[in-house]
Amino acid sequence: MAFDNERTKQLKVAVVGGGMCGLVAALGLRKAGIDVDLYESARRLLESKFGEIGAGVGLGPNAIRVLEQLELLDDVLARIAPEMPVPRPFRYLSGFEDHELIYDYPTNTEDKGLGIHRSAEVAYLCICERKLMFYTHRVTFLEALVHLVDSNKTHFNKRCIGLSIPSDSRVQINFADGTSAEADVALGADGIRSNVRSFVVAPAEQENSVNGNEIKATVMRAVFTNTYAYRGLVPTEELRKLGVKTDFTKRPICLTGSEKQHIITFPIKNGTVINVVAFTCERSYPWGAKPIPQDKPWVTPRTTSELLAEYAGFGRDALMLLSCIAKPSVWAVHAVDPPLEAYVRGRVAVLGDAAHGMLPHLGAGAGQALEDAFLLVKLLSHPKAHTDNVEVILKAYDTIRRPRGNMVLTTSTKVGDIYEGYGPSELSTGELTPEGLRADVEGIWDDIWHHDLEADIEAAIALLVDAGAF
Ligand SMILES: Cc1cc2nc3c(=O)[nH]c(=O)nc-3n(C[C@H](O)[C@H](O)[C@H](O)COP(=O)(O)OP(=O)(O)OC[C@H]3O[C@@H](n4cnc5c(N)ncnc54)[C@H](O)[C@@H]3O)c2cc1C
Repeated sequence: MAFDNERTKQLKVAVVGGGMCGLVAALGLRKAGIDVDLYESARRLLESKFGEIGAGVGLGPNAIRVLEQLELLDDVLARIAPEMPVPRPFRYLSGFEDHELIYDYPTNTEDKGLGIHRSAEVAYLCICERKLMFYTHRVTFLEALVHLVDSNKTHFNKRCIGLSIPSDSRVQINFADGTSAEADVALGADGIRSNVRSFVVAPAEQENSVNGNEIKATVMRAVFTNTYAYRGLVPTEELRKLGVKTDFTKRPICLTGSEKQHIITFPIKNGTVINVVAFTCERSYPWGAKPIPQDKPWVTPRTTSELLAEYAGFGRDALMLLSCIAKPSVWAVHAVDPPLEAYVRGRVAVLGDAAHGMLPHLGAGAGQALEDAFLLVKLLSHPKAHTDNVEVILKAYDTIRRPRGNMVLTTSTKVGDIYEGYGPSELSTGELTPEGLRADVEGIWDDIWHHDLEADIEAAIALLVDAGAF
């Protein structure tokens, strides 16, 4: 059968979820000439869950290359007014006493990265180039891209509650408002609580009730990791007034040392504000053993005294830092567990947190989401892609992306273990030492940041040629 560009353009794709991943996928497909509709549960894009799930998000060089390749980086950079250079890699300090330096992660002069900081009150975007990170004021990743969407093809208040297969060549997306939409392909970028994932994993979830091909709106595989993340923004001036000696204004810092806790900080707004995330993880019972009840929110407010009591064993500067968080909130961190055995079912694929929602210890979840979007855009917009071979195309996506997405998911969990005294070196010596930390974390970002995205495309196309699809 002959395929050409005109026929490719007839491919109709539905993207479910307009967060970072869904937005980039939809924009990439649209730029490539694909007929794409974006369905988002929120009333508008910037009201989406993006704000809820992370005050700060950093993108590594892999994510930057995706944005470059999809011709979206300039739109993001257009919003940037460089303010202050900040080296990207972490400094690891003891969480206790004088917070002495444990390990300085080596910098790579070729690295480019992007960091975004967002809260209810304030939003910043920063670009990291050749070891330096620059911040700008009051813009976010989504705000930089949202004006590019086709308003006629973007549908709000469309909460996907399930999918069905009306015929061999179509997929139907069913929404909470009673409406539905059909497409040749459905891409589920609906985040960690993905309903599209429930459809994809249903065959492997024998215990869940399946009515024909239709799946009820049960969120599957989003498991509470026994990890709570306290988040907040701290004005540097307040730390100075309190006599805090540790300099949080120039580098990302990880305060390590407790058996179940560590604190991450990141300077924003010319170092005048410190972004803080304090983690507490319970390891005495397995993930999912004590789930958050379905009717309880994942993000809840906390008082400062509750927060300080939680981290009472930490050193003075760490406690001063936490005491300055104006309105602490705590997030019950969920992850996809066990990692998916398939990102694809027929004409339906999951991507982003829907596929591999992970603990945020590597700062790599959004980067993996963009890698998913990139490969799908490249394969679905290939001149030989067609309604008849999309299932094989999605299988190639699954073969290439799933091992890597799942690897980053599991490595992210390991990094949290390392920071809290459960890394391989610490388990063998019984304590966190500079040598052990170095041995466990050195080079851990190399494979994540410097992955060959072009090789992924070539490998996927080779699979499709072998399968006779291309
Ligand atoms: C504290 C913290 C720090 C982090 N730091 C980093 C970092 O530094 N670097 C990094 O790379 N990653 C980081 N992450 C992870 C990163 O934020 C996520 O991996 C990324 O936002 C996932 O994007 P997504 O588009 O897949 O999902 P989301 O951002 O969750 O977007 C999902 C979208 O789908 C919509 N939606 C949900 N359900 C439905 C439905 N049923 N129907 C229709 N629409 C629906 C939502 O409204 C939302 O718009 C961090 C996460 C946290 C919590």
